Amino acid sequence: MEPLNDFEIVRTGSQRGSALLIDSRSYKYTIKFKGKLSTRWTCCKRSKLFTCKATVIQTGSTFKPDTEAHTHPSLSELLTSSNVRVEIKEKATSHVFTSPQAITNGV
Ligand SMILES: [Zn+2]
Repeated sequence: MEPLNDFEIVRTGSQRGSALLIDSRSYKYTIKFKGKLSTRWTCCKRSKLFTCKATVIQTGSTFKPDTEAHTHPSLSELLTSSNVRVEIKEKATSHVFTSPQAITNGV
């Protein structure tokens, strides 16, 4: 697998203030193991039915997906961008005096 650099770490107020890693496909990861040189992130998609074993190894500012692939669709695949566009369109029609660009910035 090729190393990906389009990962984003966000701080969450929930889950005991732990950090969350989001990749370009909207998969989310939480820290499983934090070592001196590298951090192992594991997919946070877990339920009673299955556990996704996909992990990402972070070394400095480099993120590299491990060999295990995700066993579920990503959030971006579930939430198609067309849904967001429809929502913006509806807002645009109900707020006649607000420019569509202003609404987009507000989302
Ligand atoms: Zn996963």
